[in-house]
Amino acid sequence: MFENKDNSSTGIGSLGEFGLIDHLTKNFKIKQKSTVMGIGDDAAVISCNSRKEMVVSTDFLLEGVHFDLSYMPLKHLGYKAVVVNLSDVYAMNAEPTQITVSIAVSNRFPVEALEELYAGIEAAAKIYNVDVVGGDTTSSTTGLMISITAIGMVNKGDAIYRSGAKENDLLVVTGDLGASYMGLQVLEREKEVFKVNPNSQPDLEPYSYLVERQLKPEARKNISKLLVELDVKPTAMIDISDGLSSEIIHICKSSKVGCNLFEDKIPLDPQVISVCEEFNLDSTTIALSGGEDYELLFTIKTEDYPKLKGNPHLTVIGHMTNQNEGTHLISRAGTKIPLIARGWNALENEE
Ligand code: ADP
Ligand code: MG
Repeated sequence: MFENKDNSSTGIGSLGEFGLIDHLTKNFKIKQKSTVMGIGDDAAVISCNSRKEMVVSTDFLLEGVHFDLSYMPLKHLGYKAVVVNLSDVYAMNAEPTQITVSIAVSNRFPVEALEELYAGIEAAAKIYNVDVVGGDTTSSTTGLMISITAIGMVNKGDAIYRSGAKENDLLVVTGDLGASYMGLQVLEREKEVFKVNPNSQPDLEPYSYLVERQLKPEARKNISKLLVELDVKPTAMIDISDGLSSEIIHICKSSKVGCNLFEDKIPLDPQVISVCEEFNLDSTTIALSGGEDYELLFTIKTEDYPKLKGNPHLTVIGHMTNQNEGTHLISRAGTKIPLIARGWNALENEE
C-alpha cells in the first residue's frame, strides 16, 4: 500500500518520521482556546481551569518493530509500555495521573500470557501512582500491539516545553546514556547464540545494568521534585527516547538556538564503556544515537549552574548558542562535528 508504484506516490521513508508528522499535520489549526500546546512537544497541554493544565501523550509499541518476545518477557513489556509513556509526561514537568491501555492480540497468545502483560502494567501503575482508566481490545492478524495514552497534571505555567531554551543556557542530562541500546545488542547476540545452540545458557551477569535498562527501564519521576528543591526551573525539556543527538536537535529547532555538546562530558556507565569495547563500537556514537534511555534532557540559565553543580543525578554536557552557529559535538580532540538526527527512525527500513 505504501510502495512507491508510480510518480504520483511518495515513499514515506523519504520524509523521515518527523518530516512525515510535519507533512501530515501542517494544515491543522488550533480551534479551541483550551489547547495550550498541540502537536510538536512530548505531550499536548490542555487548560483545565485557572490553576491546572492537563498533559496527554500517546505511544505505540509493535511486536517486531519495538520489541522481540524471544527475549522480552511479557511482564517487562507491560511495564515498559507504561514507563515510556510516563516519560513524556515527566518531560513536560507534569505528574502522571491516568493511563489508558489498548491492545491488539492474535489467538496465539493464551490468557496466561496476557495476564503476564497486565501484571507488568499493574506493577508500573502502582509504582508510578497512576490509574488505568480505560483502553480498547481488538484482534491482530500479525503481532502484538500495545498503545498507551498517558494523562498528567501540572500547575498552570509550570509546564516546560521544548521551545524555551535561550542562547548561553546550559544543557543538562539526567543519569547516563547508551545502556539500553547496548543491552539490546547483548540480547540480540545471545539470541543468535541460542539459535545455533539451544542448550547454551547466557551469562548476562556482566551486562546486568544494560539488560535491565533495555528490559525494565524507569521514567525519571523524581527530577521535577529535585529541581524544585534545587530551586531550578529548566527553560526547555524533552525526554531521551530516540538518542541524545536527535533530542538536542528537537530542542534547538523548537527553541531556535544552536548547541555545543562536549563529548568528554557525556555520562556513560562503566558497563557501557566496556561493552562498547567488546562490540567494537564507539561509545559516543551509541550515546548520541542509541535511544530508549528515557533520561530527561533540559536547559537551564547559566546563573543556576551553582545550584546543581556536583549533583550525582545531573550532568552539564554543553551549552546553547546562536542558531546560526548550528548544533555541534565538540570532540575530545576539540574538533567541531555537526550533530545529525540519527536517532532510531521507525521508517528508515521502509525506504
Ligand atoms: P515523542 O518521541 O516524545 O513520543 P513524537 O516524536 O512521537 O514524540 O511526536 C512528536 C509530536 O508529533 C507529538 O506532539 C505527537 O503527539 C505528534 N504526532 C506524532 N505522530 C502523529 C500523528 N500521526 N498525527 C498527529 N500527531 C502526531
Ligand atoms: Mg518524548
